[in-house]
Amino acid sequence: MVNNTQQRSAQPQVGKKAVRHILGISGGKDSAALAIYMRDKIPNIEYFFCDTGEELEETYAFIERLEARLGIKVKRLAATQGFRYFLEKYNDFLPSPQSRWCTVQMKIKPLEEFIGDDEAISYVAIRADEERKGYVATKDNIKVVFPFKEAGITKADVEHILEESGIGMPEYYKWRSRSGCYFCFFQRKIEWVRLAEKHPELFEKAKSFEKVLPDGRRYTWNQDESLEELIARKEKIIAEHEKRMKLQKQRKPNKTLAEVFEGVLDGEGQDEGCVVCHV
Ligand code: SF4
Repeated sequence: MVNNTQQRSAQPQVGKKAVRHILGISGGKDSAALAIYMRDKIPNIEYFFCDTGEELEETYAFIERLEARLGIKVKRLAATQGFRYFLEKYNDFLPSPQSRWCTVQMKIKPLEEFIGDDEAISYVAIRADEERKGYVATKDNIKVVFPFKEAGITKADVEHILEESGIGMPEYYKWRSRSGCYFCFFQRKIEWVRLAEKHPELFEKAKSFEKVLPDGRRYTWNQDESLEELIARKEKIIAEHEKRMKLQKQRKPNKTLAEVFEGVLDGEGQDEGCVVCHV
C-alpha cells in the first residue's frame, strides 16, 4: 500500500519539485471508493476527472456528491476537441474495443497533458478480485500503483466503503453497469435499450454518430446492427434479459436485484470494459 517513501516524497524538497499524487475519478464506484480510502492517507492528493463532454448527467451528479461529502475538488480535464471533431479525423470510424481512440484522445492525452513532465504517482482503483491489469502509463514520469490490489480490497469492500461514507452508488447503476460515455461501445444491448428509455435525447445523439451508406459501408456502435435496428427489436432484447434475470434470481435467491442485474450483464461474455474509463 502507500509506504513511507511515497508519503515522504509528497513533501517539497529544496530545488526539486515534489512528486505529485493523482487519483482519477471515472464516475464509477471503484474510483469513488478509492478516493474515500486514500483521502486520509495522502494529504495532498489531486483528484481529476477526464470529461469527454459525452457523459451522463448522473455521472456529474455523483462526482459532485463525492466532492461535497469528502470536501475535495475534482479537477475536470477536457480534451482539446469534442468527440465529433475526432470522429471526423478518424474518417467516421466509431471507436470500438479494438480501436479505442476515444480513450487515447479524450482521456489519456488530457491526463498526460495535466501531468506534463512532473514526477507523479497515479492511484488506480483496480480491485483485488479483478483480472484486469489496469492502465499502464506511457510516460516514464508516471508511476501507477493499485492500492486496492495491494490491500486485497474486493467488490464487496468497495460497496461497503461507499455505503459507510454515505455516498452510496451512482444512480445509473440501476440500469447500467459501467461509468463512461453514454454511447460507450462496451455497453450491452439491454443497456442501449435502457439508455433509449432513460435518456431518449442521448440515444438519438448516439444514433446521429452512426452512418449506414447506400454502398454498404456501415459505421455503427455495434458490429452486427445499427441502433435503429437494435431499438426496432427492443421487446425481444427486454424479454431475453428478463429471462436471464429470472434464471439468475433462481440460482442466487439471496442476491439483491442490483446484484442479479450485474451478474446477468457479467455473464453476457462481453469485454471487461476499459481500464481507464470503467473504474
Ligand atoms: S467510456 Fe467508452 S466511449 Fe467513452 S472514452 Fe471510454 S471507452 Fe471510449
